[in-house]
Amino acid sequence: MSLTDVTGMRCVICGTVQPARYDGYTCPSCGPAGTLDVQYDYRAISQRWSKDDLAADRDVTMWRYRPLLPIADDAELPPLTVGGTPMYDAPRLAATLGLAKVWVKDEGRQPTASLKDRASAMAVVKAREAGAEIVTTASTGNAAAALAGISASMGQRNVIFVPKTAPEAKIAQLLAYGSTVVLVEGNYNAAFELCTEAVDRYGWFNRNTGINPFMTEGKKTASLEMCEQLGWEPPDAVFVSVGDGSIIGGVHKGLKDLVALGWIDRMPRIYGIQAAGSDYMVQAFENDEDVVTKPPISADTVADSISADLPRDRVKAMAAVRDTGGAYLRVSDEQMLAAIPTVARGSGVFAEPAGAAAYAGLEEAVRRGLVGAADSVVVLSTGSGLKDVASAMRAVAAAGTSPITIPPDIDALARALDAAT
Ligand SMILES: *Cc1c(COP(=O)(O)O)cnc(C)c1O
Ligand SMILES: [Zn+2]
Repeated sequence: MSLTDVTGMRCVICGTVQPARYDGYTCPSCGPAGTLDVQYDYRAISQRWSKDDLAADRDVTMWRYRPLLPIADDAELPPLTVGGTPMYDAPRLAATLGLAKVWVKDEGRQPTASLKDRASAMAVVKAREAGAEIVTTASTGNAAAALAGISASMGQRNVIFVPKTAPEAKIAQLLAYGSTVVLVEGNYNAAFELCTEAVDRYGWFNRNTGINPFMTEGKKTASLEMCEQLGWEPPDAVFVSVGDGSIIGGVHKGLKDLVALGWIDRMPRIYGIQAAGSDYMVQAFENDEDVVTKPPISADTVADSISADLPRDRVKAMAAVRDTGGAYLRVSDEQMLAAIPTVARGSGVFAEPAGAAAYAGLEEAVRRGLVGAADSVVVLSTGSGLKDVASAMRAVAAAGTSPITIPPDIDALARALDAAT
């Protein structure tokens, strides 16, 4: 099945369709911005696969959506459990915001602790299919950790390019998984350019976001799963933080797949949230700029995972918001740091700054009246708070939370508790 249901790969700029088994990455006429979108024969898929088949499937991983994924029948799948992350109903957060429903989908529960596992798992499967000796990516950290972890689980060699300033936890993951780790003295953009040159020189399999068309297909399983978890009743709005724009494009793709299959009957509004210091998409949205020609900005934010001078998947990312009646919103670093304890206390989900950014964006949307009392909302918490403990400590300090430090003595405890209350 599957690969036979892929009908082609369509350029997001010029619309030219490459054959299903096209072995390049991007559109030959449009270059690197000409990201390809995998096309499916939805009629053939729906003839062989139903919601009931899915309900009877005991596989909890992302591969339960295999008929909607561009992989061969005999594809070698990673042993790690990717996907199947929980979605929590958060009534206290909903009450605070005055919304009908708020769910938090906790992607921090993935094997390497971010949503990127969905894409990197797809990357390694496609790399094995291509017989690649080495897989590579540039990353702000999480895509790299994901590629490293999934590769380790399958014995796949890989070379990783990350900015030298990536949070320590992410670098520790890369080294523990045994990747060849290149710390680039520069930002994500510099790491990306160097990785691209290395691909040209060495012919490695390229996982880079916005370049490899299959990353969207991996990431879309987050929204397939979201809708299944909600009994195929989609929410009114989905909040997603945006760096390169690949997650938001993937979320949109999964929802479009489900509309095409007739499994959901309406498209949620998709809101993209960016850091004020890395707001390329917000600028383009507000000023109606063409993202194909808009030049890079100079990004600076505490949320390393969404720090991007030039969002590599910007065409899909803009369509996700424009085609669904959503919006792009910016939040300050202070707002997203403040959202870390808010989400943790209100739902039990501990997010890294880029994950909490989606919730800070929801708060902003409520203030602007973009969502209201009738709306049910999903917040995608894209990565674990343990990824960036330094930022979490800053966040709790800013929230005025400090521990009680005392000698191991019950009277000292009594005095401290008196003082604290
Ligand atoms: C990568 C990442 C994002 C942003 O995803 P893009 O596809 O780059 O827009 C958000 N949050 C976390 C935790 C991430 O790792
Ligand atoms: Zn093209």
